Amino acid sequence: MRKKPSQAYIALGSNLENPISRIQQAFDELRQLPGTHLISHSSLYKSAPIGRLDQPDFINAVALIETHLAPQELLSALLAIEHQHGRVRESLNSPRTLDLDILLYDALQCHDAGLTLPHPRMWQRAFVLKPLM
Ligand code: ADP
Ligand code: MG
Repeated sequence: MRKKPSQAYIALGSNLENPISRIQQAFDELRQLPGTHLISHSSLYKSAPIGRLDQPDFINAVALIETHLAPQELLSALLAIEHQHGRVRESLNSPRTLDLDILLYDALQCHDAGLTLPHPRMWQRAFVLKPLM
């Protein structure tokens, strides 16, 4: 029998090249991940940039998915979607076409190379906590 799916919360953010339609498109891309269902998502929230202030406002949202992907598989799939959106990693807090972070994956705690769960900075970020609520 197939194992029960895991529940994961994904934070979405964008502040370049049509952020609103890009976030909506990203919901569809989450729907299309293998072994994954999009259960629900928040409304879109507009937030001022933090850290580096000379950049456009962000559009943020949070989605709840059920998935059979393992945490590392899910992270790779999300990084691939970011890549399709032309994401370039300049520096921390730099503007981005699309950022997809795993906030929570069931009750898993993990500190692997490249993946920390729960997401270490989520508690400091109103633009994550509000849509997550
Ligand atoms: P941020 O999202 O904090 O602005 P990046 O999107 O540039 O930073 O992410 C950098 C790296 O953070 C990713 O390549 C990924 O390996 C790592 N990372 C660690 N934990 C997580 C997580 N829970 N969700 C997403 N990425 C994570
Ligand atoms: Mg990220």
